[in-house]
Amino acid sequence: MRIGVVGGGQLARMLAMAAYPLGMQVTVLDASSDASAGQVADLVHGDFSDRKALGRLADASDVVTFDFENVPAASADWLAARVPVRPGARALEMSQDRIAEKELFTRLGIPTPRFAPVDGTADLEAAISVTGLPAVLKTRRLGYDGKGQRVVRDMSSAMEAVEQLGSGLVLESFVDFERELSIIAVRGMGGEVAFYPMVENLHRDGILRHSSAPATATAHAQDARDAVERLLVELDYVGVFTLELFETTDGLLANEFAPRVHNSGHWTIEGAVTSQFENHLRAVAGLPLGSTAPRGASVMVNFIGSMPDADKVLSLPGAHLHDYGKRPRPGRKLGHATLNAPAAEELDPVLARLITIARG
Ligand code: AMP
Repeated sequence: MRIGVVGGGQLARMLAMAAYPLGMQVTVLDASSDASAGQVADLVHGDFSDRKALGRLADASDVVTFDFENVPAASADWLAARVPVRPGARALEMSQDRIAEKELFTRLGIPTPRFAPVDGTADLEAAISVTGLPAVLKTRRLGYDGKGQRVVRDMSSAMEAVEQLGSGLVLESFVDFERELSIIAVRGMGGEVAFYPMVENLHRDGILRHSSAPATATAHAQDARDAVERLLVELDYVGVFTLELFETTDGLLANEFAPRVHNSGHWTIEGAVTSQFENHLRAVAGLPLGSTAPRGASVMVNFIGSMPDADKVLSLPGAHLHDYGKRPRPGRKLGHATLNAPAAEELDPVLARLITIARG
C-alpha cells in the first residue's frame, strides 16, 4: 500500500514512521525542500495547488491523506478524481472556515460559543450584541497556534483588532473555561469508531504546551463522544479526527475540529496500545482498527522555538524524545517529549523537571 500525504510537517513524519512497520510506502507533498517528513519519506516538492506536483503525488499513491487541513478545496477535488482521498474534501472544507465549522456544530446540536461574522468595524456592534464582551476575534480562515486572533474587552479594543486582522473574521464569546480537553477518534472504512481517552490540554499564547492523558475524570465524556459520532457520520469520515473542547461548569463547548492526527494525540505513540498515526493509516488503508486503550498515564510536552538538551530529557524516567528535524524559529514546534508511568501521580514530579529542561 502506497500512502500519499498532502503536507510534509511533523504529523506526516510521524505518519511515515508508523507506516514502515506495516510495509507501507509514504510520499509527502510539501512546498519546502527541507520539510520534516521529507527526511524520512519520499518528498514531492511543490505547493498545494501545483497540478504537476499533485499529479506526481497521485501517481505515487494508492490513497491520499493530509497532515494539514488548509489545502485548497480545488486541489483536494482534483486529487479525489484520480485517487481515493481519505478523509474526504468536505471534512477539509468544513474545518477551513470557522463559521462553516460552527454552523455545522449548531446544526448537529453540538454546543459551541456564541459567534457572529465580522467583515469590518461596521459589523462590530451587532456582533458584540450576540457574543457579549469579552470576546475573541479570529480570522475565519488560516489561523493556527493562536495566530490571527485577539481577545477584545471593549469596543475600542475590538475596533483596533478589526483594523489589525482585516476582513473575513468571526467574533466569538470568550469562554471562561475550567480546562481545555480534546477527544480523538478514529473511524474505519466500514463506519466502525474507536475513541482514545479524553486528553487535558494546556495552551499558552494560543499554542499547545502540554497534554495529559487520560484526562482526570470528566462528567461529560459521553457528550464528547456523542458529538464526535455525529460529526463523523455527517462528514462520512474515514481516519483520525480530533475535537477540541472547552469544559465549563455548564458542560462542554466545541471549539474546533481537526480532520487529521493531532498534537494532543502524540502521547499515543508510547502511551496507547495503537498510536493515532498507526490507526489513521489502518483506517485510510481499509485495515482493521487497533485498540485505543491507554498504557498507564502519559504527559506530552511540546518544544517550541528551541530544542532542549537531549541528555537531560532522556535522563528522566519514562521519557521519550521526538525531534522533528526542523530549523529553530520563535514559536515553531520543533519536537516533543512524552513521559509515561503506570499512574498519573508518578508523572507530576518528572513533569516539573521536564518543563524546567524545556525552558532551557
Ligand atoms: P483556536 O485556534 O481556536 O484553537 O484557539 C487557540 C487557543 O486560544 C485555544 O486553545 C484557547 O486556549 C484560546 N481560545 C480560543 N478561543 C477561545 C474562546 N472563545 N474563549 C477563550 N479562549 C479561547
